[in-house]
Amino acid sequence: MSRAVLSIGSNIGDSLAHLQSVVDGLRDVVEAISPVYSTAPWGGVEQQDFLNAVVVVDDPTADCTEWLRRAQALEEAADRVREQRWGPRSLDVDIVVCDDVVSTDPELTLPHPRAHLRAFVLIPWLDVEPAATLTVDGRQASVAEFLAELDSSERDGVRLVDAILIR
Ligand code: ADP
Ligand code: MG
Repeated sequence: MSRAVLSIGSNIGDSLAHLQSVVDGLRDVVEAISPVYSTAPWGGVEQQDFLNAVVVVDDPTADCTEWLRRAQALEEAADRVREQRWGPRSLDVDIVVCDDVVSTDPELTLPHPRAHLRAFVLIPWLDVEPAATLTVDGRQASVAEFLAELDSSERDGVRLVDAILIR
């Protein structure tokens, strides 16, 4: 059995619909859904802003590997409707944490190795789980602390959007 925090993002096509497809696909096991944020993409390439959110899922029948399998199935389903065959994906679903599992397996690294560096992960995560903690390189700290350690420009780039995901 396991509970996982998923970070979902999209910057191709109808990004809100791609994020909604995750909630729809996992509906029976969704515990919490964050607000939706937009984030300007990195590095000068002309592309749409990202939409990001966090979804908490809990399923007594799923282990952490099963969350990765489900995440990849949802990505594939969204990719089928993408309008270009290269560049950023229409849907990215990352496992931020799964229970207290720590793993260095490149197939499924837990906690996600870059989650603590990404305001677009930490901000929506705090919305649904204000007391969340995260362990990075053996150091446990609150998610709020990790967020405070980021550049303010990084945090300011993550903006609340006037749209919600519906269970
Ligand atoms: P990105 O790092 O930008 O999310 P991808 O979504 O293409 O890139 O993921 C690449 C690989 O990362 C996947 O094949 C997956 O097996 C692996 N991976 C390792 N740890 C995780 C995790 N915690 N969540 C999701 N994918 C992971
Ligand atoms: Mg990914």
